[in-house]
Amino acid sequence: MSKKVAIIGGGFSGLSAACYLAKDGYDVTIFEKNETIGGRNRKFTENGFTFEMGPSWYWMPDVFDRFFDDFGKKREDYYSLTKLNPSFSIVFKDKEKINIPSEKEELINLIETLEKGAGKRFEEFMEDAKFKYDTSMNNLIYKPGKSIFEFVHMDVIKGLFKLNLFSNFKKFVRKYFSDPRITALMDFPVLFLGSAPENTPALYSLMNYAGLLLGTWYPDKGMYRIIESMEALAIELGVKIRTNTEVSRINTENKNVTGLLVDKEVFHFDAIVASGDYHHMETLLPVTFRNYSEKYWDTRTMAPSSLIFFLGIDKKIQGLDHHTLFFDESLDEHSKEIYTSPQWPNKPLFYVCTPSKTDPKLAPDGNENVFILIPIASGLNDTEDLRTHYFNLVMHRLEQHLNEDIVKHVIYNKSYCINDFISDYHSYKGNAYGLANTLKQTAILKPKINNKKLKNLVYAGQLTVPGPGMPPALISGKLAAKEVNTILG
Ligand SMILES: Cc1cc2nc3c(=O)[nH]c(=O)nc-3n(C[C@H](O)[C@H](O)[C@H](O)COP(=O)(O)OP(=O)(O)OC[C@H]3O[C@@H](n4cnc5c(N)ncnc54)[C@H](O)[C@@H]3O)c2cc1C
Repeated sequence: MSKKVAIIGGGFSGLSAACYLAKDGYDVTIFEKNETIGGRNRKFTENGFTFEMGPSWYWMPDVFDRFFDDFGKKREDYYSLTKLNPSFSIVFKDKEKINIPSEKEELINLIETLEKGAGKRFEEFMEDAKFKYDTSMNNLIYKPGKSIFEFVHMDVIKGLFKLNLFSNFKKFVRKYFSDPRITALMDFPVLFLGSAPENTPALYSLMNYAGLLLGTWYPDKGMYRIIESMEALAIELGVKIRTNTEVSRINTENKNVTGLLVDKEVFHFDAIVASGDYHHMETLLPVTFRNYSEKYWDTRTMAPSSLIFFLGIDKKIQGLDHHTLFFDESLDEHSKEIYTSPQWPNKPLFYVCTPSKTDPKLAPDGNENVFILIPIASGLNDTEDLRTHYFNLVMHRLEQHLNEDIVKHVIYNKSYCINDFISDYHSYKGNAYGLANTLKQTAILKPKINNKKLKNLVYAGQLTVPGPGMPPALISGKLAAKEVNTILG
């Protein structure tokens, strides 16, 4: 009889772990507390609008392709991709708007027009970023982060200096560029997905390569299509999926996990992959078996949370692209209010996603589907009054920039913030993207993939290696499955 493995959580990492384990012959069951799988990448439909609740940037397409390839499949068997052009656009002060082209030559020309001589330096910057991307993909990211010796590889040793692990991202970018529009373009991926540029290792310029040169893509029918595709693969491999099923305890005996508790029913398993938010997964265990104390968690630097508005608009909006970043206020000030002295931001930057530009079916005919995201510090007090205040603030700036009425065309409006992240995902301090990508929270310094006291409990997800984002969560599931295989094999 096949050995039985439980996966707690049906997000990217849980689905990924489930597929790899089922392929290896285990009897796998996913337990997901929410009504649908997908975790932070879910969707809902209201009044003819279909809103995606989390990811909107499909970066690093090679990682998704590699995932399907591991099962002898092609990503194209499941969904097709459209490369967005412009990849995205940025709104700066005084209504200046810059479209970021998807093709390299056009991008170089744009950079050159923003700062004389910077086109050439952009090419050098990207050559270096590509080296970091390739080295990380080949030698760093697919490692379980258990020991420093995993990284002892000739390419890594030879390139250690070039990987810029110990220099900071902010200074690194400013060695190449001084125009604030270019530095904002470079800073945005690390700021939105992880940590203050000054506390991020310059290694993460690999994200600039991923974002600017590998392209920004859109799956046909939207981001949830990826989850549906992974679900179809999981089912084909024999994985059982139980939604609306919250795990309330992990059972233990003699330094092993033996199963889990759902409602009042006990299920027995030979191993468990805990892929929900790490802190919450540990609360399912007796205190003595947890890897980390409350003090440990309280001293971590969390990646941002978000205040999100899902808006249905009863007209088309010309001035917005699929992805529009509003950088018309100070990035430094907002970054401080997220990381250095966490507080609700005074003059926030924000991001507007209008997926109905690419996929009109996401809104009724002639309407627009708009998702607005303001990054905020995790752990802030979240109230209806604050949400209303920021809705008015963002709408005012949007209307001023577009020079047209938006508020009176809003026919659907739902906000989503810290309290929702906590109730939907048991997210620690309501974080959206897990832990910040600081040096002290990278690779072997991240929360460990193995439970140190229980042999057959493995963690997956954006709070352990390799980190936040859909591609890392996919890789995390693969790493967790490999650990289970070693333990049970
Ligand atoms: C607003 C937002 C925007 C984002 N944008 C992007 C983007 O553009 N591009 C990108 O690459 N990434 C993006 N991300 C990040 C990406 O979505 C996440 O890194 C990824 O989805 C995390 O997957 P996961 O499996 O680690 O966790 P999750 O998706 O959180 O999955 C964990 C699952 O565990 C379940 N669970 C928790 N506790 C229990 C329990 N006790 N019993 C049963 N089930 C339980 C939860 O309900 C959840 O479904 C974004 C995230 C957010 C929130």
